[in-house]
Amino acid sequence: MTELVFSGQIASPGLALGRLHLRKKTQARQRSAGDAAAEEAALLAAIDQAARQLESLAEQSDSAGAEILEFQGALLDDDDLIDPIVRALRGGEAAHDAWKRTLDVEIADYAKGADEIFEARAADLRDLRDRVLGILSGEEETEIALPEGAILATENLSPSGFLSLDAKRCLGLVLREGSAHGHVAMLARARGLPLLIGLGADYEQLIDESQVVLDAEAGKLVLDPSETSWARARARFEQRGSEAEELRAYLEKPAVTSEGEAVAVMINVDSPALLSDIDPAHCDGIGLTRTEFLFHEGSLPDEERQYGIYATILHWAAGRTVTIRTLDAGGDKPIPGLTPEGESNPFLGLRGLRLSLAYPEVFKVQLRALARAAALGPLKVMAPMVTLPSEFDRFVALFDAALTELEGEGVPAARPQLGMMIEVPAAALTTAAFDADFFSIGSTDLTQYVTASARDCPAVGDLLDPGNPAVLELIERVVNAGLRKGVEVSLCGDMAGEPDLLPLLLAAGLRQVSVSPARLAVTKSAVAAYPGGAITGLGGAS
Ligand code: PEP
Ligand code: MG
Repeated sequence: MTELVFSGQIASPGLALGRLHLRKKTQARQRSAGDAAAEEAALLAAIDQAARQLESLAEQSDSAGAEILEFQGALLDDDDLIDPIVRALRGGEAAHDAWKRTLDVEIADYAKGADEIFEARAADLRDLRDRVLGILSGEEETEIALPEGAILATENLSPSGFLSLDAKRCLGLVLREGSAHGHVAMLARARGLPLLIGLGADYEQLIDESQVVLDAEAGKLVLDPSETSWARARARFEQRGSEAEELRAYLEKPAVTSEGEAVAVMINVDSPALLSDIDPAHCDGIGLTRTEFLFHEGSLPDEERQYGIYATILHWAAGRTVTIRTLDAGGDKPIPGLTPEGESNPFLGLRGLRLSLAYPEVFKVQLRALARAAALGPLKVMAPMVTLPSEFDRFVALFDAALTELEGEGVPAARPQLGMMIEVPAAALTTAAFDADFFSIGSTDLTQYVTASARDCPAVGDLLDPGNPAVLELIERVVNAGLRKGVEVSLCGDMAGEPDLLPLLLAAGLRQVSVSPARLAVTKSAVAAYPGGAITGLGGAS
């Protein structure tokens, strides 16, 4: 048999060798509608059954999985969603039609938000829509029974479908469709499960039970590999196993260069739900908390809800410093009802601190919650997308006003260190002019603005290179400005988690970085290997 090699997009990197388990297509059954009362009873029973299924799946899931299932379960309990459907049934519409029509509108709303959280929520809604439709049409939820050592190939997969997989049997996943930003991809990455998506028409050529190498390092699926390909893949797989084992050892230890210099390695937090799977002792605190996720819950979170989440994060950190960034909406992270619609270039528009300053009443809620949380532990608060010193001063003035208000009300609060992200070239060039307690370089946006290459445009992905000498020169410049001013500088963009780029940052004088939790071990190992070898690529900025 000749080996066949197919290409796909890497949604979660890794390597797996096993047998392909091709999931059969299920045919949607037709359902005939009854009278209005029967339809109402059928829908409510289906919703009830779906809620019970989700509850039982959530019990078997980890915190991230449970969060997705709880989101779906909460929708089933949401009168604003269900009541109009019930009214439509009383008006004579069939249960499956009314349910599908309503959910499709919600899905389309979420799918409009061009950001990964919205994309993932749209996928959750599709999942929920299909679960209830499946129950209504009498189809049993198709459990994916996997043999040992399987690599699952399926047209598409819902988050709850993913969570119902037997993780011990599944070595990897191949999807005909899929999205690199969806929840299934996030879940796979969090579990280190290789996932290749977007096989497209090649998917039709896959044969059940064939031997495969899922190479989600190179973006390939090799069907019926030759003996040589198999042996090579196996050797690489074993090497990855021992590398991972060695890397794990770094997690327990503080990050120190080969010359004995300590480097603080913190983590970036997008979803506090994932914190329960991370040992705080493995990092030096949180260098960036993206609070955007809080604003994607359908309505703007009130002060109590925000305070509760900030308090939970501080509690998790157990005395380590927690840096929380104020809302960075806009650009690739729109929030309906808050960010402006129809901007011709949202990355250069009303985003980050600009947006918060434009809506002081919304901003005040967050600042009050942060000031209250600051009374609980070592908190730092920073503003995103700052361009001018006067903007930063307004941020500080608003914070102080919120603090004075809380003090007047007798509510415990404190003033944390107030800092700012450096991600706009103008701020990188004039760092010394900002009266901030600390600076944190957002290298992804800085690179986007320096290289004029949008971070969400794959066609210019090659230009979006944080290793570009112009970016490195600006980083070095910011570090030097911080040193001269006696103000601490860290970096929380993705580049810090890249072992090829980290040495350049350390050579520029950075001694504090913040990386995604999955990059913690590899970053600490890259610190340990530093300096080791010549460093090239730095400009001579002063
Ligand atoms: C960055 O731009 O590097 C950064 C850390 O911020 P975000 O990725 O949230 O825009
Ligand atoms: Mg940014």
